[in-house]
Amino acid sequence: ITQIRQLQDHLTSLGLMLGSMSHGVKGMLTALDGGIYQLETGLQKKDEARVARAFDQVKTMADKIRDMVLEILNYARSRQMQYAPVPVTDLVESVMKNIRPAALKSNVICEVFLPDAPGIIEIDSVWMESALVNFLENAVDACAYDHEKPVHKVSLTVTTEPEERVCFRIQDNGVGMDQETREKMFTLFFTSKGSRGTGLGLFIAYRVIQQHGGTVQVTSALNQGTKLIICLPRIPPGSIGENGVNPLPS
Ligand code: ADP
Repeated sequence: ITQIRQLQDHLTSLGLMLGSMSHGVKGMLTALDGGIYQLETGLQKKDEARVARAFDQVKTMADKIRDMVLEILNYARSRQMQYAPVPVTDLVESVMKNIRPAALKSNVICEVFLPDAPGIIEIDSVWMESALVNFLENAVDACAYDHEKPVHKVSLTVTTEPEERVCFRIQDNGVGMDQETREKMFTLFFTSKGSRGTGLGLFIAYRVIQQHGGTVQVTSALNQGTKLIICLPRIPPGSIGENGVNPLPS
């Protein structure tokens, strides 16, 4: 009950924060649009003073939006992890339920390979689910951005070797990454998707995996695809402990 109350409190304050922010966000976006319009007009008319003013406006707004995102991230970090034992099959089922509509929309075939008894892991299922969905969303996006191959596939393979770990292998045959993208993929605000990306997803996902004592390994080849291996500690049968509580690291 205490945990449910805590979660309720978090959701209420998150809801309040987002509610009060949405108005501000709209205002900031309108000001940003206005600034961009002024910038375009100034450039067309070669009016240097107007360009300088508009540039200032755009920069101020972009900084404000950036600060706001950082504030949300700080809030997310302060939310305590609520660890509980979860069957791997349940986790995979809800992750796939989340990703299938996006895959279907982008014409990407999704495959899942699960061993017979993948066991139990101690996780914060809200955070872990969103982290795995994020990795898979990127895999689907990478396929959607690829116009070379006739068939696009994303697979999720769960393995339990070695025994003390559960590994999730996510493989796609999308656009792949060059070395520079591969090195920056977990960096805050790094995106190769222009205005369609935020560069937030994998920054958070990576931290969630780290917080769970897990590891992420990436191999990728440009125009061929990407393979990620995410490994988490598995609870040996009969050793389920107390729920841990840990904040998300900075
Ligand atoms: P966003 O999806 O908003 O761009 P993310 O933090 O989720 O932000 O991802 C950062 C970047 O990592 C992506 O823009 C993309 O360049 C790269 N990336 C992540 N996963 C893949 C993948 N499976 N294939 C190719 N590029 C990827």
